[in-house]
Amino acid sequence: MPDAPDPTELHLETRAIRAGRADNDTALAPILWATTTFVTPTVEDGRRMATQVGESRFYSRYGNPTVKAFEDAVADLEGAESARAFASGMGAISAVVLGLCSAGDHIVAQRQLYAGTQLLLQAACPRFGIEVTFVDGTEPGAFAAAVRPGRTVLVLAETPANPQLDLVDLAELGAIAGPMTVVDSTFATPLAQRPLEHGVDLVVHSATKALAGHNDATLGVVAGSEELLQWLWGFAVLQGANASPFDAMNGLRGLRTLGVRLERQSATAQRLAEALEAHPAVSQVRYPGLPSHPQHELAARQMDLFGGLVAFDLAGGLDAGCRFVESTTIAQLATSLGGPETLVTHPASTTHVSLTPDELAAAGIRPGTIRLSVGLEHADDVLGDVIGALDRLDAAAADAD
Ligand SMILES: *Cc1c(COP(=O)(O)O)cnc(C)c1O
Repeated sequence: MPDAPDPTELHLETRAIRAGRADNDTALAPILWATTTFVTPTVEDGRRMATQVGESRFYSRYGNPTVKAFEDAVADLEGAESARAFASGMGAISAVVLGLCSAGDHIVAQRQLYAGTQLLLQAACPRFGIEVTFVDGTEPGAFAAAVRPGRTVLVLAETPANPQLDLVDLAELGAIAGPMTVVDSTFATPLAQRPLEHGVDLVVHSATKALAGHNDATLGVVAGSEELLQWLWGFAVLQGANASPFDAMNGLRGLRTLGVRLERQSATAQRLAEALEAHPAVSQVRYPGLPSHPQHELAARQMDLFGGLVAFDLAGGLDAGCRFVESTTIAQLATSLGGPETLVTHPASTTHVSLTPDELAAAGIRPGTIRLSVGLEHADDVLGDVIGALDRLDAAAADAD
């Protein structure tokens, strides 16, 4: 048999298909190790396993072979030495924040964040004596300017970010010396951008989204240096938000098609964004692949694909938003993203309904803001559905005049 190819010489799409199979024996597909525990051959083995960081054949909260296979695959794609999987994206993010910060420490985070991350920083961190400064992540130099030397332990960014697909300059973030830098890269996936290549210390994902990619696994992951991951592991084992082997197996199943999925979603999203921009019912479109995106040049520099998420504002505001999300049929009203089904959300009437207009504005959400996660349906069907629903809004508005 010829030698196996050197993985580092292969393209990411190819590596995504082959990664995480080191302990597969002759099985082609990922193996599900549903066991919670492992027989320990001797007392000496038990002693070693109970204290070894990342041991995957001792007790499944510590580690598990299926989960390890998923971790190895993500580490490979991110160009990381190591990775740790969690029960959810929030499990991963809370492990980073609470595992690396102590009372008296300071965090710099951007204002544009996933709502769960924002609540963790805004509500939970102060209870533990961890201070957080929020900055505008799109403003050059904002993160570095907010760092307090000797006190800031973590700089946390998300790019592209909820909800308006704002971007953070990864090279600028990676150049910050002192605190650890962390990027939530969920919207991009390693096929579109690799923060560690820019000098960022840790990359986190809600693998629930595009990495697993089928809306059937709740999963998170953190990747970075062996040293940082060992430190994180010490907290993660006590936190107990470990990934289930079944979800990790579905994560590995998802990774194999990540390349074709993201390419298709990006292509459809680009077409849709252009069509939305030309529609009279739409007042603004946000998509990193559009020349009108305020950071389009940065997107082109640091992203290989622009992803499947599109945000846009309906000229008709709250009422139009409510009617729009109830009148699409291919695009279904549901929270989440990155899966085969096109999903649509109207934050002002659903996830963020409790916010006042001022609070909504501060979160970058306008009454008519729609977030759309493009799925894998035929592009003509997605465009027909979305543009058809917009045409009906226009017709209703004309009737009302
Ligand atoms: C969904 C999401 C999370 C949280 O992940 P869960 O798997 O739902 O816990 C974090 N960050 C981003 C950007 C997300 O989209």
